[in-house]
Amino acid sequence: TDKPEYPRAVNTQKCIRAGGKHNDLEDVGRDTYHHTFFEMLGNWSFGDYFKEDAIKWAWKLFTDVWGIEKDRLYVTVFSGDEKDGLEADVEAENLWKELTDIDHSHITRWDRKDNFWEMGNTGPCGPCSEIHYDSTSDKSGGHLVNLDDPDVIEIWNLVFIQYNRSDDGTLTPLPSKHVDTGMGLERIVRVLQGKNSNYDTDLWTPIFADITKLTGSPPYEGKLDNQTDIAYRVLADHIRCLVVAIADGGRPGAAGREYVLRRILRRGVRHAHQTFGVDGPLLYKLVPSVVETLGNVFPEITENQSQIAKIIFDEEESFLKTLDRGIELFEKAAAVGNGSCIDAQSAFTLHDTFGFPIDLTEVMAKERSLTVDRDGYELLMEKARETSRATSETDKKMQLPPEVLGKFTSLQVLPTNDEQKYGSGVTNSRVKGIWNGKDLVGKADSSATFGIILNKTPLYAEQGGQVGDTGLIVREQCSINGRGEFLVEETHRYGDYVLHVGRVLEGKLFE
Ligand code: ATP
Ligand code: MG
Repeated sequence: TDKPEYPRAVNTQKCIRAGGKHNDLEDVGRDTYHHTFFEMLGNWSFGDYFKEDAIKWAWKLFTDVWGIEKDRLYVTVFSGDEKDGLEADVEAENLWKELTDIDHSHITRWDRKDNFWEMGNTGPCGPCSEIHYDSTSDKSGGHLVNLDDPDVIEIWNLVFIQYNRSDDGTLTPLPSKHVDTGMGLERIVRVLQGKNSNYDTDLWTPIFADITKLTGSPPYEGKLDNQTDIAYRVLADHIRCLVVAIADGGRPGAAGREYVLRRILRRGVRHAHQTFGVDGPLLYKLVPSVVETLGNVFPEITENQSQIAKIIFDEEESFLKTLDRGIELFEKAAAVGNGSCIDAQSAFTLHDTFGFPIDLTEVMAKERSLTVDRDGYELLMEKARETSRATSETDKKMQLPPEVLGKFTSLQVLPTNDEQKYGSGVTNSRVKGIWNGKDLVGKADSSATFGIILNKTPLYAEQGGQVGDTGLIVREQCSINGRGEFLVEETHRYGDYVLHVGRVLEGKLFE
């Protein structure tokens, strides 16, 4: 409904698909075209051009500008959905036929699972049209579209945002229509450089070269089911993801999105140690090769290089302390489990005592053709949760979503200085942000729970298994606003910001 300042845009989005709705972690390393972190290139129309131009330009870029062979390209369109009362996207189908010279037999219809894009349960959505690339030597891969075949992969998705889904599930046409496209950089580079794997392109080779150098292992051979080659891909993939996420303020940690990073890091450490036989921390030494390959486009990586390496080094060291004993326990469990299953108690101890994320135990089990008693493990975890006093992410009174952290940067709110957390006494601070669980608001009163961001704090935020501090934020009597008192009931850390959650006991607090 807004009139945008820029009705069109092009960009590269940093994408991480290692948890939540889109989770490609299980494919990473085992295939050649799913990464935890990848760059999604896009062109956007905000109520400006629509299907016609999006389709025409996509074809022109692929075939005219880049000269990709037309008989290797396949497109998909939406086949309609009875439940939603939606017809097939004949409009898009006809535009492909009329505006491009694609072989009409290369256009196929697919249902909502593949060709209808929705971000969440409600909101803007619409049909999409994907372009797939057949890299088989004899161009015989047409029947492999959408079948997870490594030789026939999706390269570009053109999304046509034309409906709004409301709370009751019904769709209504949007007053103005939008385009949002996504093309994986690593995949298109592979096509343009004539390779059969994303990892054979120059986006990756410097990282692979460093892995060879630092581990002294034989060079990468690109085999799909060779353990060393899998480890090469996993390490190279994971270090990119870690570097990019940490540069953006993400941190490896015990819960939520931070645990996503910890899991990724520990998978990498395990391979460095067990597959490549490296004793000390290794991943942090790969940071320069990531800077070499991504630093031009994302300068924040270059700027924060040494801090990123330090964070990775610290996490590696801490996991390495328990890794050997964990592997020993795993070996024992593998031997006892009749060669078929890792028992629940071992999986739990691996997690609880030795810091092995359950998915890492599962990866290790799979390598040996074993399974893990996941149900039993979940039961033990549930019990442990009940007895543990540690606040889990969902028990928290309030959380600070990543978008808000982004806002702080644009509002020039600096990270919280919490050097005083190990000391004692009173700290003089300023209120830099007040969060009501939904919005940043200018003041806090006694009507609800609020989260307060200060420039400095002496309170220790929950971290590393230690509960957060509680305390008081007091504004001394002042002539305009009087006295104010805020009881801090929980202290949490989000990125580099400390959030003091609690309620006003007296007066009001202002930003
Ligand atoms: P796939 O079916 O191959 O997993 P997708 O349907 O999940 O792809 P989209 O959500 O449409 O992909 O994302 C748009 C584009 O982003 C894809 O066409 C692809 O080029 C790229 N892409 C998606 N997931 C990944 C990934 N894990 N690693 C690298 N590129 C990806
Ligand atoms: Mg996918």
